Amino acid sequence: MASTLLALEADALVEWVTTHGGQAFHAKIIRSNVLERGVLDYDQMTSLPADLRAALVAELPILASAETTRTVSRDKTVKVLLQFPDRGGSVEMVHIPPPDKADTRGATLCVSTQVGCPVGCPFCASGIGGLERNLEAHEILEQFLIGRQVGPLRRAVVMGMGEPLLNMEALNTALAAVHDEMGLGARKITVSTVGFPDRLHKAARQKPRFELAISLHTADDPQRDNLVPAMKGVAIEDILAAGDDWFEQTGREITYEIALLGGENDTPWHAQRLAERLAGRRCMVNLIPWNPSPGMNFRRPEPGTPEAFRDDLIARGLVATVRWSRGLDDDAACGQLRQRVKQG
Ligand code: SF4
Repeated sequence: MASTLLALEADALVEWVTTHGGQAFHAKIIRSNVLERGVLDYDQMTSLPADLRAALVAELPILASAETTRTVSRDKTVKVLLQFPDRGGSVEMVHIPPPDKADTRGATLCVSTQVGCPVGCPFCASGIGGLERNLEAHEILEQFLIGRQVGPLRRAVVMGMGEPLLNMEALNTALAAVHDEMGLGARKITVSTVGFPDRLHKAARQKPRFELAISLHTADDPQRDNLVPAMKGVAIEDILAAGDDWFEQTGREITYEIALLGGENDTPWHAQRLAERLAGRRCMVNLIPWNPSPGMNFRRPEPGTPEAFRDDLIARGLVATVRWSRGLDDDAACGQLRQRVKQG
């Protein structure tokens, strides 16, 4: 399997460069061109010797992924399908510009961590077909580089395909580069997880370079068993306790997310139960009205229901917002991403 630039660790890149006629410091120049300046073409790295540039072009591609399609929805959300010819599989990533055209602070990028997803939430297209494989660190990092080429980034959410805590090592490696070399701060990156307690306890102790969102979806244990099948039998109380531990370890508040499914988890009873269970916690609740995908037996909440749910939570002392997803008409919204190209 051919290697790529971003797949090489620092020492390996120095070795590659020196065995191809360059000097050790050229490795730094190459990496800073790619990660800090966003140059994805060796021919533009004119401070490198011509022979080294020619060797790089011939033998060491910068990216492992190939962009298969790029589509733009009515609200200017851009969805990119990436294929990985060497290792197989494909993922989608989404570049979401600010809703206000006058806002020049840059877009939100949504990236994926796995090809497919093993969690199998019945309302999400990403879990159809289960998990094919974890992405490598450089395959996650590439999404940030490609996203930045679509347009400037203000923040990123690790909320695309896959469950990030099940691929934590690769994600940490990728985010270290995003943070240290691309310059996107930890407060500007949010990782969204279904909240495996043991993994949360561990992640909280790894000096995380991100904010945390836990996809709770309901405060009712039997219902959660159905909505998040891979966590069947894990008590919500244990997830909340792991969230409390995260807050103690990092000092950063958690966002709890609820995909609001019409008639399923959006009733006043569900709001009350959620408020009771989150009472006394410094956190925020994000309500995401469900986005339809073909073949799924759910419906969107009735008009006004998400706002009523939010107001109910606020009246009970929580901080809550409704987040309407962007890119709906292009299947680029939350829960709609999937592997559209399968390789043999
Ligand atoms: S909602 Fe998240 S965890 Fe659930 S199947 Fe989709 S990608 Fe996986």
